[in-house]
Amino acid sequence: MTLLTMSRIRLEGVRKRYSGNIVAVDEFDLDIEDGEFVTIVGPSGSGKSTILRMIAGLEDITEGTIYIGDRRINDVQPQDRDIAMVFQNYALYPHMTVEQNMSYGLKLNSDRSNEQIEDGVREAAEMMGIEDQLDKRPSELSGGQQQRVATGRAIVRDPSAFLMDEPLSNLDAKLRTHMRTELQRIQEELNTTTVYVTHDQEEAMTMSDRVVILNHGELQQVGTPREVFSKPKNTFVAEFIGSPSMNFFDVQLMDSTLTGTDVTYTLSDSFAGRIRKQSMNDELILGIRPEHMVFADENDSSGIEAVLEVREPIGDDNYLYLRSGNTEFKMRVLGQINHSEGDTIRVSFDESDVHIFDRSTGRNVLAWADPTSAVTSDVTTEA
Ligand code: ADP
Repeated sequence: MTLLTMSRIRLEGVRKRYSGNIVAVDEFDLDIEDGEFVTIVGPSGSGKSTILRMIAGLEDITEGTIYIGDRRINDVQPQDRDIAMVFQNYALYPHMTVEQNMSYGLKLNSDRSNEQIEDGVREAAEMMGIEDQLDKRPSELSGGQQQRVATGRAIVRDPSAFLMDEPLSNLDAKLRTHMRTELQRIQEELNTTTVYVTHDQEEAMTMSDRVVILNHGELQQVGTPREVFSKPKNTFVAEFIGSPSMNFFDVQLMDSTLTGTDVTYTLSDSFAGRIRKQSMNDELILGIRPEHMVFADENDSSGIEAVLEVREPIGDDNYLYLRSGNTEFKMRVLGQINHSEGDTIRVSFDESDVHIFDRSTGRNVLAWADPTSAVTSDVTTEA
């Protein structure tokens, strides 16, 4: 029973201030379940690595508490936290063989016998498909193989948690996609709690049980990939998650109609009613994902009138770049397109794909209102 709760990781009110008064992370709360794969994602400088390094014990915590299992680890030395880290640059010892790289930490700092360690190394090497490389040195390996050694070394430790900091960033696109699947498979097999850091939203969305979105050291949203995609809590999350990014249009709600420059869209009374109930503000932002836009009849009075500026066919997919007044937006459409660049067209969308944000706060009016929504933690900035 104790084993089951061993590797839950909790951060409570965590703050990190570096010298020079840089607040890298502020009021950060997160509860990671045992065996869960959680990815922290955000732009460069948003505090992702700082959070991971605080869990690892490589950075002091300015305020707040971190628990691994039931143990408060603020003052526990990194080597006593029972975690294994995988870094972006792999951090392999160049003068050691793969086998030595994988076993060195354990030989130095565990009570396992040499035989147990060797067995562990062989098992982890097989899991990572590098059992034939054990006698080689890192310089004799490709980037992908080095990545496997670094991950294998973490696996041998049999830690209560893996902490991974951009472990795939140095690989080319194809290998990166392959390694994503591989890491996921291994994490599922071992069922070891994993905290993964990346700036790549696609990586976060494809690999994780839950995604933690960070901006300027502040938590924006925590949820499953599906939840943060379909119910982004604010315009930052809406724009950051999903590719191409969500389109935004300034609109006002007049009766049941969203109205803006070249935008007219009449909502059902119940949908408009829900917005009214949740927002004191009539100044809104309409958000629509590029893949949720469709061509509408030119004589239709509803939707968005726009000029098709650029067509970009990518295989069977088309990225269309459009302009409506001063607002540029994108559409993603499958199949044959009968419109040419320069054409004025009308696009529309389903009400179920409409996102509405308060223009002064950036908050998603409906995601905040919906008690069943995925929004499990609060945005820390208020307008
Ligand atoms: P990310 O991993 O999201 O790119 P980091 O956690 O590395 O972000 O950094 C968050 C903020 O803290 C940034 O503004 C960065 O410049 C600052 N920072 C990181 N490490 C240090 C340090 N050792 N000293 C001072 N400031 C730092």
